Amino acid sequence: MPATILIVEDEPAIQELVAFSLRQAGHLPVAAHSAEQALDIVRAALPDLILLDWMLPGMSGVAFARKIKSDAATREVPIIMLTARGDEQDKVTGLETGADDYITKPFSPRELQARIKAVLRRRAPQMTSDPVEICGLRLDPESHRVSGDSKPVELGPTEFRLLHFLMTHPERVHSRAQLLDQVWGNGVFVEDRTVDVHIRRLRKALEETGHDPLVQTVRGSGYRFSATPE
Ligand code: CA
Repeated sequence: MPATILIVEDEPAIQELVAFSLRQAGHLPVAAHSAEQALDIVRAALPDLILLDWMLPGMSGVAFARKIKSDAATREVPIIMLTARGDEQDKVTGLETGADDYITKPFSPRELQARIKAVLRRRAPQMTSDPVEICGLRLDPESHRVSGDSKPVELGPTEFRLLHFLMTHPERVHSRAQLLDQVWGNGVFVEDRTVDVHIRRLRKALEETGHDPLVQTVRGSGYRFSATPE
């Protein structure tokens, strides 16, 4: 699954270089030349990750990161700061603001991609193509296959994404609204009930191999993927 990556950078040359490198790695770059513009973009549709230049005209990188991390709607989006070489104070301030990682300019495309991969793996594992396996249920994003105790499980595309998200965020309760944001995408207008419909289909498909009890309803809150029986 390609990750949508917002690049907030006022220098066009760096902006283009980074965008090129992201496309090469199979991601979807979105560009903003100021923090103000970036805020508009984030409000319209949440990116999977933000690459944030520290020195921006107008609102600074720090102020932008604070805004993102203090708003419940945007807090979960990982941020990698782009800082000037050797500026230790910038790094400290950045990490204190809630940035997930930093990368020092100038950086190589390879370094950039490695950092992005590491942050996505940690913060948005459903964006990576690592296979996940819990209690004999295995999902492989690369081949788009699911199996339960080595028997194939047939899933529709939405159920596949839903299961991928749940398996990469187990033992936590997700509200219907959170699942809509994460699985259907921010800004998509579907009813909460849609989630219930797809959860039902997912459970039905998992019944074949007896893995349906892993998808649990948490009354009044939402859904949870758990290896512990209800
Ligand atoms: Ca700059």
